[in-house]
Amino acid sequence: MTLKVGVIGTGMIGQDHIRRLTQVLSGVAVVGVTDIDRARAEAAAPKGAEVFETPQALIASDKVEAVVICSWGPAHEEQLLACIAAGKPVFCEKPMVTSEAAALRVIEAEVAFGRRLVQVGFMRRFDADYRRLKAVIDGGSLGAPLMYYSKHRNAAVPEGLYTSEMPLNDTLVHDADIARWLLSDEIVGVEVRLPRRSRQGGELRDPHLVLLHMESGAIVDVEISVNIAYGYDIRGEVSCEQGIAALPNRPAAVVTDKNGIRQAIPEDWRERFIEAYDQEFREWIVAAGQGTATGPSAWDGYAATLTADAALRAVDSKAYEPLTMIAKPALYRAGAA
Ligand code: NAP
Repeated sequence: MTLKVGVIGTGMIGQDHIRRLTQVLSGVAVVGVTDIDRARAEAAAPKGAEVFETPQALIASDKVEAVVICSWGPAHEEQLLACIAAGKPVFCEKPMVTSEAAALRVIEAEVAFGRRLVQVGFMRRFDADYRRLKAVIDGGSLGAPLMYYSKHRNAAVPEGLYTSEMPLNDTLVHDADIARWLLSDEIVGVEVRLPRRSRQGGELRDPHLVLLHMESGAIVDVEISVNIAYGYDIRGEVSCEQGIAALPNRPAAVVTDKNGIRQAIPEDWRERFIEAYDQEFREWIVAAGQGTATGPSAWDGYAATLTADAALRAVDSKAYEPLTMIAKPALYRAGAA
């Protein structure tokens, strides 16, 4: 059986996901695309795919069984709500939405529908290294996790694309999600410290040091650097009662020459997480084919959005900012369909 997918937003990641859905994965076909820029959608459309005028037309089309949202964050809410109203499984790139109120509207709509339809693009959960790290923590041999150090370093962001909020709105959400997932814990409060500003980013506020306080009492220390010049470098180490567990250095050929002994560093997220994105979609295709979703949920999208909001408040207040979550609906509890 082939899952017929429509893709909304054919920018950088939309094009990368179309490539994997058409050239890498099986059991799926991209039958429609749309973008605010029609010419960009036409250029990205695989052979035979329809170019829709609007996201609403794509979502409503009988040809489209499931939807992939790769537009920018502020557009996600309306597109997610339309997919839920149409009863269509939807993969939505992070951030799920950009405000707490919007996240609650998505949750409310999905709960009213009565079945999970939304998967949020937190691809780190599908990365083999992160999965092995989680298996060690969950195995319990190291005792309880006490601290987690998460380093999130981007070589550069295009000037003008990033506002001062985006390192927290758009980047921190990955670290917040992976911390909750790795430690099986919820974030209850956030602090932010601003080190000396890097001149690499012009006026951009960068880097950030973020402390996530977990419900268990564990503390997560996150470095967000979005203009670190040397490459895309993601690291993680969990410090437990009886030992530590860490992500390995990425496998890469070890080059020896007159400049020394070294390994290449990924240029960006497409290279570092290429297999994780593939696996993320493999699992999504199976669940969407059954009319549902199993990966990171709207609840996880909500938790990440609340964390980003609290971090933005903490930049101004320079104080601990608590998170207040609604009671978790049954739909998102372990074992729910
Ligand atoms: P991008 O290159 O700017 O692409 C977004 C595309 O969506 C653009 O073509 C944009 O058109 C279009 N668009 C915007 N609003 C739309 C709407 N209402 N309906 C239809 N199309 C619309 O950005 P990107 O880097 O691909 O990022 C897209 C999303 O993926 C963002 O939410 C981003 O945070 C996420 N992302 C996730 C990861 C990850 O690691 N999981 C990595 C990168 C990006 P215009 O340019 O004309 O506005």
